[in-house]
Amino acid sequence: MRDFCFEVAIIGGGPAGTATGIALKNMGIDSVFIVEAGSYSKPKIGESIPPNTQTLLQRLKIFDAFSLQHHEPCLGSYSCWGSTQLGFNDNLFNPYGAGWHLDRSQFDLFMARQFKALSGVLVDNTRFDNLSVMKNDLYPIKLSFENHPDVCCRFVVDATGQSAKVARKFGATVNMQDLMVSFAAYFDCQDTRLNENKLTLLEAVEHGWWYCASLPNNLQVVSLTTDIALAKKLRLKQPENWYSLLKNSIHINSRIEGTVSPNRLNNWKTPSSLLSPPAGNGWLAVGDAAACYDPISSQGIYKALANGLQAAKAIVQWLDGDPEGLTEYRNKVVKDFVNYLEQRDYFYGQEQRWQEAEFWAKRRAYLAGLKYG
Ligand SMILES: Cc1cc2nc3c(=O)[nH]c(=O)nc-3n(C[C@H](O)[C@H](O)[C@H](O)COP(=O)(O)OP(=O)(O)OC[C@H]3O[C@@H](n4cnc5c(N)ncnc54)[C@H](O)[C@@H]3O)c2cc1C
Repeated sequence: MRDFCFEVAIIGGGPAGTATGIALKNMGIDSVFIVEAGSYSKPKIGESIPPNTQTLLQRLKIFDAFSLQHHEPCLGSYSCWGSTQLGFNDNLFNPYGAGWHLDRSQFDLFMARQFKALSGVLVDNTRFDNLSVMKNDLYPIKLSFENHPDVCCRFVVDATGQSAKVARKFGATVNMQDLMVSFAAYFDCQDTRLNENKLTLLEAVEHGWWYCASLPNNLQVVSLTTDIALAKKLRLKQPENWYSLLKNSIHINSRIEGTVSPNRLNNWKTPSSLLSPPAGNGWLAVGDAAACYDPISSQGIYKALANGLQAAKAIVQWLDGDPEGLTEYRNKVVKDFVNYLEQRDYFYGQEQRWQEAEFWAKRRAYLAGLKYG
């Protein structure tokens, strides 16, 4: 093997990229390279994972190590959705037990370390920039970076998240179904008993929906997800406007009563989108690069890990000269996305209280467009 040449290169070291890397190493692929733009030190959103994530962590052979990490259990959820009454859905009778509220940056770092423990090569603080394909070369894909020598590979995985930066270089396009935005703050609950509540809380309001969960280190995350155009009209980037909506909520506000309001408000785009196509000859996309799900589904990380396992199988087949696995992978990503859209439509359709409000009218128009458009 030449210097900086790998069987598989994975761009992006979030859960989808590292899960793909771990699964490939478990399947006996020696030479796997992951490049990550960040350094796993910044706080990251996306923390609720359902109980059955356990099966994926077991299939990746990292569940025992994961169990030693200090994440918060998630005992279920309660929600005010469709009426002012609270509905409860606990994990008491779930065969897998509780889910988790992750310390998200620690989880991503944990995954990266598990990959490295299998002698995977992971370089962080390095950003992928461009690629070219050279015909008739053993390692035909040449990748270039902002601050790293070029790398050659036989197969490349796009795990860059929402940007799908690698797949776009192969001509793939992102098919946007809906685009919302979440504004979130982290409340310090030290010296209070607020974090004893291990249930996720969801509350629908006129302008969207609120979410609250207890995190490790005595933190509570509180977020409002709304329409992207509406967020501009409501000037939600200014914390005082976000806080005034928070005060009008019935249940969320009381979950953080007595805490000091943090000054910092973060915002993230939350699209529902599908990459078209999600795989091609010599490449595929995993996680959010392949398809983005609304955070109301709490399926983003589960999907990232599941994609990693499915992708590794398809890649090993492809390296052995059989392209059929890539076709199966492509079909599975599309089928899962269609199922997800149906579930999402059903869920939003359950809320009928604000027929005239912009947020709900837009979601309804979108549902009608999908079904009849
Ligand atoms: C507000 C919000 C709330 C959410 N809540 C939940 C939740 O409760 N539960 C849940 O399961 N999911 C949730 N999600 C979704 C979840 O966070 C994502 O689905 C998950 O992070 C996808 O993992 P990924 O590895 O595909 O992408 P990411 O986690 O985005 O990782 C992509 C990685 O690629 C790196 N990268 C990008 N470009 C480059 C480049 N050019 N070169 C090198 N590296 C690059 C990035 O630095 C990043 O580390 C939420 C998302 C949002 C926005």
